[in-house]
Amino acid sequence: MEVEKTQNEERSLNFIEQIVEKDLAEGVNNGRIQTRFPPEPNGYLHIGHVKAICMDFGIAEKYNGVCNLRFDDTNPAKEDTEYVETIERDIRWLGFKWGQIFYASDYFQQLYDLAIMFIKQGKAYVDEQTAEQIAEQKGTPTEPGVASPYRDRPIEENLRLFEAMQRGEIEEGKMVLRAKIDMANPNMHFRDPIMYRIITSHPHHRTGRKWNVYPMYDFAHGQSDYFEGVTHSICTLEFEVHRPLYDYFIDQFSGPNFCGLSPYGPDYRPKQREFNRLNITYTVMSKRKMLQLVKEGLVAGWDDPRMPTVCGLRRRGYTPQAIRTFMDKIGYTKVEGMIDQGLLEHTIREDLKETAPRVCAIFDPVKLIITNYEGAGETIIAENIDGHEELGTREMQFGRELWIERGDFLEEADNKFYRLSPGGREVRLKASYIIQATGCEKDADGKITTVYATYDPNSKSGTEGGNRKTKATINWVECKSALDAEVRLYDRLFAVENPSAEEGDFRDLLNPDSLKVVTAKVESSLRSELLSAKRSVSESGQSSDNEVVSYNHYQLLKQGYFVVDPDTTSDHLVLNRTCSLKDNYLK
Ligand code: ATP
Ligand code: MG
Repeated sequence: MEVEKTQNEERSLNFIEQIVEKDLAEGVNNGRIQTRFPPEPNGYLHIGHVKAICMDFGIAEKYNGVCNLRFDDTNPAKEDTEYVETIERDIRWLGFKWGQIFYASDYFQQLYDLAIMFIKQGKAYVDEQTAEQIAEQKGTPTEPGVASPYRDRPIEENLRLFEAMQRGEIEEGKMVLRAKIDMANPNMHFRDPIMYRIITSHPHHRTGRKWNVYPMYDFAHGQSDYFEGVTHSICTLEFEVHRPLYDYFIDQFSGPNFCGLSPYGPDYRPKQREFNRLNITYTVMSKRKMLQLVKEGLVAGWDDPRMPTVCGLRRRGYTPQAIRTFMDKIGYTKVEGMIDQGLLEHTIREDLKETAPRVCAIFDPVKLIITNYEGAGETIIAENIDGHEELGTREMQFGRELWIERGDFLEEADNKFYRLSPGGREVRLKASYIIQATGCEKDADGKITTVYATYDPNSKSGTEGGNRKTKATINWVECKSALDAEVRLYDRLFAVENPSAEEGDFRDLLNPDSLKVVTAKVESSLRSELLSAKRSVSESGQSSDNEVVSYNHYQLLKQGYFVVDPDTTSDHLVLNRTCSLKDNYLK
């Protein structure tokens, strides 16, 4: 048995795990496993990042290594501490623990010193051409590029100019530092890539005005990995073409060129590995586009429940467990593709099915009066989840006047309609009595205002008479104790499957029906949500702390899964629809 299990586990290793196991078996980097998750603090984390997070943290967890969090903060024009804080909070919410927190900006001095070393070795030069000119000279993969007229500048002059760039004496955009590699290399990234640029227009969120030159991704990422001792630098496939350059730069100061920049000695090497990025239908996963939606008010914020951000998914009612299960299901490969949003919805539905208490809510209410019910009302005990006594019960108020769904009554119905209609058919009120409709009342426009019925006092669920079967059961909420809830019915953010593949402006592709708001009558058991809302506001104030409060999930019977929204106050209940009950994915 034991052997069989191990073999199965082995067969299901993803290709990165296979690489890690091979490295471990061969004693690469002395059997050390160190990964990092390297977000740029220029936006909120989205579900695509979670795929990388599950990989980076997952590998470290599985192989007794460490995963550090590194903020890749090399572009002050776009970055901010606000993002640093939300990124940390979201990772914690997902349930992962990092070893240490690093910032690429911690290495600005070391990177600058390396750049100076490159210049002194004749491996870098200051180019005074415009970005356009440099781009024009790049050539194509089959045609070599054209050398910059500044390529053979004397070393002394390069040094003098680069230092002037850093002192802030050169205007932004006027000069860059380029690596002198090979303008004919079939890998375009080797055609004298830019190592440093000038940014004087924005202070850096951590280093302020100390630096006027900032390293480019290619000159910062591999080096940061190296300084920290990362062994497996795992990223998405678009970086595969950068990998030779990643290796080239590290070659210049490791192995035979080792100059003491790592405590792990000359033989240590970080290795970059790439997997397919996550794309999901009916949404966008680019921070630039998401920022645009937020800034232009096309969504209510980064945590709008329609957004694919981690905070948006959380507010939508997704659980960390469901998101992580989703990542396990899609897996890691080298093939780019598009994942059906239905699979994500399926995963949260499966999760909530097991845990979310059921409650009644009436979305389009009409009043039902039970004419033969006498007395002030009664309390009915109903199971939170039918058939699961162990998951607890709740109290429902019952009485003479109830709200029912308008659609559950027809004045004239054919014999295929099993719900309420005058003429003798019996219908069970969920978890309580059997009733029969006797008639209705209408307003001047012919709209039904009240339905009349009689009940059978000997038919109560849970008693002997409760076993009597009816063809239909309907939901109800007792009028006097009912609460009004603002219910936000969310749907997919975009109307088309792949908004990024369409011509034109992506904002024109937004789904106009992605949010509908209704006021529903909900059962009084949800009053506890009002009480706890009041408590959390008075105890912790307005979302000032960095901890995530978790909100309760419910299944509103026949309507879907919902979560309590943080907009809820002591007298106003707000519920967000997480997903509908119907699962189209399985079809
Ligand atoms: P954007 O291009 O929208 O700004 P990004 O990819 O540059 O996003 P980073 O903060 O640099 O965002 O990403 C941090 C890590 O998350 C990187 O390792 C990146 O490969 C990974 N990542 C980003 N998007 C996805 C995705 N859709 N699927 C899987 N991993 C992703
Ligand atoms: Mg990036």
